[in-house]
Amino acid sequence: MDLGLKDKVFIVTGGAKGIGEAISKLIAAEGGITVIAGRSTEDNNKTVEAIIAAGGQAVEVTAELGEADACKRVIDFTVQRFGRIDGLVNNAGVNDGVGLESGSPEKFMASLQKNISHYYNLAHYALPYLKQTKGNIVNIGSKVADTGQGNTSGYAASKGGINALTREWAVELLPYGIRVNTVIPAEVWTPLYETWINSLPNPDEKLAAIVAKIPYEKRMTTSEEIANMTVFLLSGVSSHTTGQIVYVDGGYTHLDRSIS
Ligand code: NAP
Repeated sequence: MDLGLKDKVFIVTGGAKGIGEAISKLIAAEGGITVIAGRSTEDNNKTVEAIIAAGGQAVEVTAELGEADACKRVIDFTVQRFGRIDGLVNNAGVNDGVGLESGSPEKFMASLQKNISHYYNLAHYALPYLKQTKGNIVNIGSKVADTGQGNTSGYAASKGGINALTREWAVELLPYGIRVNTVIPAEVWTPLYETWINSLPNPDEKLAAIVAKIPYEKRMTTSEEIANMTVFLLSGVSSHTTGQIVYVDGGYTHLDRSIS
């Protein structure tokens, strides 16, 4: 199947590591141009170099996305360099453990800043260009918005907000032919996941307990499986799909708890 991405330009936030890295690489493998926006120039460049070595096209823009000015800079950089934006993948986020009891009003607002403000800011600044290309937006959410996790109010509120914005933006952008969808991972082995599991007491036992409860094949989802759905939704092949929240999680969020 030809996804029709050739020479189209896609911004991937947090595109240097984990799920974002897999999305960046798949866009490039399909002939698109990936603009990796993330806070570490070194990490960004490593992924850009890997993509170029594999024969693809990618550039990086270093940005701390919690700052609105940095989001504007990502969009300005992309348009100056390529003259167009065909899609935005809002992916960067951090499960930062700001709990109701353990956190504070300041930490809660800082968590929203890290996890949801840039989803809005980038979409806002990209909109004039997405209108020109009938480009589209794919957000990466989390099952935490459905299930809770405990001790992560800022992250959970952000991910719930992202689900709401998916429907809201899908409606607002109908007149422009811009589609908006969200992909929900649950358990994917990435640097973020590794840091989170190691923050728990007995991480090995906890990991084994989680994996045993993933209905489909009792294994974690791979970053590539999240990327496959994301890039499908970015492409014109999914041309009548908008406002959808798609779970790529081996059934972890919704299937019957009694499944052994
Ligand atoms: P990851 O391994 O930490 O990779 C995320 C990348 O984004 C890192 O390069 C990180 O930089 C960068 N980043 C994060 N916040 C940023 C910011 N404010 N400004 C600039 N760069 C930023 O994370 P991941 O596991 O691939 O997660 C990607 C997305 O999937 C997130 O939205 C996450 O909530 C969601 N998700 C993941 C899982 C899972 O099981 N892994 C489950 C549910 C949802 P640093 O390395 O410097 O922090």
